[in-house]
Amino acid sequence: PSFSQLGLSEPMLANLSRLGFENPTPIQSGALPHALAGKDLIAMAQTGSGKTAAFGIGLVERLNPRRFSVQGLVLCPTRELADQVAKSLRELARARDNVKILSLCGGVAIGPQIGSLSHGAHIVVGTPGRIQDHLRKGTLKLDQLITLILDEADRMLDMGFQDAVEDIISQAPAKRQTLMFSATWPDNIRKLSEQYQHAPADVRI
Ligand code: AMP
Repeated sequence: PSFSQLGLSEPMLANLSRLGFENPTPIQSGALPHALAGKDLIAMAQTGSGKTAAFGIGLVERLNPRRFSVQGLVLCPTRELADQVAKSLRELARARDNVKILSLCGGVAIGPQIGSLSHGAHIVVGTPGRIQDHLRKGTLKLDQLITLILDEADRMLDMGFQDAVEDIISQAPAKRQTLMFSATWPDNIRKLSEQYQHAPADVRI
């Protein structure tokens, strides 16, 4: 299918063509219908497959910019990936007015992040440890979260973030959309999906 057959908004379609995205990649055509419908999803996807837009387009389309609350949270294994994802999401969000996206990672001072959060953010992208720090301090609240995304979930667990990820999920609303993207599908990922997802669609490319 083409992007226009996926039920995207006109501004998003115009933005995708501005970005030079002519047709959806396989992971995008597989994942987007589920993501847009608010369903849970497990997707096996490598870097370079277009996975960021596969979750980003749905995230941007589904949020309400007039509500000043964190509606999307993307957990990433590294700061480099988080910054790259935040950058891609900002490009996708040019389809909508006033969408604020923050990257919150460790290794940098927390003070400025607290300041940015206090001005409101719609989407937060970050590494598990620093997200936990903000939850502990109460500077980040997840009570209005609509969509939780685990990007490169296998790498995140390999790096020892399993407890942190589970702690964060436990602080998100029970009624939420959970999307998991992973290059491989080992046992610990399958268990995480079974425990925290509800009837996920399975997209493999
Ligand atoms: P990712 O796998 O998310 O890291 O994306 C890999 C690259 O593909 C990025 O540079 C994107 O800008 C680009 N990309 C994503 N979706 C499309 C698409 N539908 N058409 C063309 N390029 C795309």
